[in-house]
Amino acid sequence: MERISWDQYFMAQSHLLALRSTCTRLAVGATIVRQKRIIAGGYNGSIAGGTHCADEGCYVIDQHCVRTIHAEMNALLQCAKFGVPTEEAEIYVTHFPCLPCSKAIIQAGIKKLYYSEDYKNHPYAIELFEQAGVECKQVKFDSKSIEPLIVNPVPEIN
Ligand SMILES: [Zn+2]
Ligand SMILES: [Zn+2]
Repeated sequence: MERISWDQYFMAQSHLLALRSTCTRLAVGATIVRQKRIIAGGYNGSIAGGTHCADEGCYVIDQHCVRTIHAEMNALLQCAKFGVPTEEAEIYVTHFPCLPCSKAIIQAGIKKLYYSEDYKNHPYAIELFEQAGVECKQVKFDSKSIEPLIVNPVPEIN
């Protein structure tokens, strides 16, 4: 029996979360992991109970949709809300984080960033990650890794 790797498992979770995104511009997912356990997840969307971009269009200022909270921020805020430490944690994101999210990730004490897709990769964000000793690694999500799930939704385990 082939087992899914940890990297693909956490990256799959971020891609699954991205499917919950309410912004039509880009669907992003983020999973925070500590000691191989998922401690939080987020996707980019409006404030809880707020208007969704998908329903009423994006609220664009200076070419950015300002309606949504980014996936990384949502995952970090979930930890804040429920009092879960993020020190020494790792984060798996579908896209390279924007500059404000990069700063929040560093400040939250996260030590490893895994991203699937390049996304503007701000040079200052890269510089800050280096300075802070946060390891950044591209892990492309391979949909083949979840093929057993699609072929047989409840795999038989012997
Ligand atoms: Zn939007
Ligand atoms: Zn961001």
